[in-house]
Amino acid sequence: MKKDIALCRQLLPLLKLYPWAIPVIVVLGMLGSIFEGLGISLFVPVLQGLMQDSAATPGGSALIQWIFQLVDDISPQDRLWMLPALILLCILVKNLLSYTNGVLSAWLKCRVSHQLRSRVFHQLLTVSHSYLGTQDSGKLMNTLGGETWRTGEAIATLISLITTFCTTVVYTAILLLISPKLAVLIGVVMGTISLAIRRVTRRIDHLGKRVVESNANLGLRMYEGLVGMKTIRAFGQEPYEQQQFDRSSQQVQRSLLHLDMLSTTVSPLYEVFSALLVLTILVIAVQNDRTVLPTLLTFLFMLYRLQPQMQLFDSYRTKLQSLAGSVEDVLGFLDCQDKTYIHSGTQPFHALQQSIDLKSVSFHYADDQDPALDQVSLTIPAGKITALVGPSGAGKSTLIHLVCRFYDPSKGEVQVDGRSLPSLDLVQWRQHIAIVSQDIHVFNTTIAGNIAYGQMEASRDDIIAAAQQAHIHDFIQTLPQGYDTSVGDRGTRLSGGQRQRLALARAIVRNPDILILDEATNALDSISEHLIQEALDLFSRDRTVIVIAHRLSTVYSADQIVVLHQGQVVEQGNVQQLLQQNGLFSQMYQLQTVTPDHLTSNSSLV
Ligand code: ATP
Repeated sequence: MKKDIALCRQLLPLLKLYPWAIPVIVVLGMLGSIFEGLGISLFVPVLQGLMQDSAATPGGSALIQWIFQLVDDISPQDRLWMLPALILLCILVKNLLSYTNGVLSAWLKCRVSHQLRSRVFHQLLTVSHSYLGTQDSGKLMNTLGGETWRTGEAIATLISLITTFCTTVVYTAILLLISPKLAVLIGVVMGTISLAIRRVTRRIDHLGKRVVESNANLGLRMYEGLVGMKTIRAFGQEPYEQQQFDRSSQQVQRSLLHLDMLSTTVSPLYEVFSALLVLTILVIAVQNDRTVLPTLLTFLFMLYRLQPQMQLFDSYRTKLQSLAGSVEDVLGFLDCQDKTYIHSGTQPFHALQQSIDLKSVSFHYADDQDPALDQVSLTIPAGKITALVGPSGAGKSTLIHLVCRFYDPSKGEVQVDGRSLPSLDLVQWRQHIAIVSQDIHVFNTTIAGNIAYGQMEASRDDIIAAAQQAHIHDFIQTLPQGYDTSVGDRGTRLSGGQRQRLALARAIVRNPDILILDEATNALDSISEHLIQEALDLFSRDRTVIVIAHRLSTVYSADQIVVLHQGQVVEQGNVQQLLQQNGLFSQMYQLQTVTPDHLTSNSSLV
């Protein structure tokens, strides 16, 4: 019971947007049950009439006395059609109320489920990268895709539970009014049956959590299977992956089967015990006194209607328990207390005037990890090109992440024109940035849609101009539907170089103040790269550009080159100064065996 109450406490706040809904559902449910009870009670005089025993007035029951007083003034002739008509009216009103209640409950369930899914997605979009980095992608997909549905199902179950509870209360009250003694006796027996069944269903809560765990595991396997398909095939690991997948799928199958087996025991158990009870009462009562037959039949009919409600009540409780794991998973994800967020500042940002400054910035991805950036102080001047070079893992991408405010520094501060970056309006700040990174995401929409993702208001002419600058226009023209061609899931219909050019067009159409190129041309052949470098040279004029490139030939014309090593700035200057220093940059330069000819002939920006 404690667990039920705790679960209801967790779920009820989800309905707070509609505070009127639960009272309305309760009232409609109760009214419906009252009309049904009234209709059933009217059977007593009808049966009495049919038995030609209208003189005999059944004693004891207040409700039956009241019903008889009600029909007293009607002649026995008229009773024969008026009472059935009244019963029919009661049934009609009851069903009208039930229908209204059903529609309202379905509406509420759909609304709340939608809001829940939307909140989970919003959480996914706003929670910090640090938190997301600690979560399994498969588990997150399962929370978003599967557990939100199951939580919506829990809300629907809670609503049904409340409605059924109200109906049960009204039916019980009517039973008490028909025959208090019999009602108490049956209450005791049914309570005992309920307790016996509860012993069977105690494990359901635990099993529900196991289902969530195994679903999350399966989600992870599905995700890895889809995303890593090429690697799996290239390394011939299909049998291994199949085995892993089957194992996870079997875990889901076993835990679900176990849960369903336990859940489905409730209904047959109830039915067998209840039938036994009803038959026993009928036999004993008729043997003792035949005149109570009409009252008894009405009582049994009412009981017969009550039993499925009680049965439903118990199965809803069981279902709610089985969904508790999902509710915990979703509400745990929605809980803001244990998560970090990148909060937006309030100061408006219109344009970068002077510089972005990193002041003794250190950053750890996790407390127990070495710093990815260690005491980095650096000025990125506005309108100039800053190149970040250094060995793999030196911290180049991390520095970009801090500039984009995907993360905040662990120590130190990033400043923009002398103002601290966190004080700026985050949306406005990011609106002035365009990033072309190593892992390009192409959306499953048209080419035009993908380019316009950089600037949703872009006209078709803007999109075409951007595509021309990124040297992808000619290729798009060869496609059957041109700019309206769908590129498939994650852009699988495009080559690596085409994806990269599409991403460049997306950045160009954004017309950003700050352009970040993180290995933006590494998938291009040398002819395309040369063409795009020329285009980017033009596009970069008067913009602040931060470029990361392993191929040093692509950064020679940068205004400043910053060499990072193990999270620290080890060298800084233009290409001539760095070569003269004979340090890390010079070593890297020699390893790439670049001749001085390249230096002069290939002096384009990126
Ligand atoms: P590359 O040139 O190979 O892309 P990089 O210079 O851009 O490397 P970063 O990606 O910034 O290097 O990584 C710097 C350090 O931070 C590395 O040691 C890396 O292992 C670590 N790191 C990067 N991303 C994460 C992450 N999400 N969680 C934990 N550690 C990370």
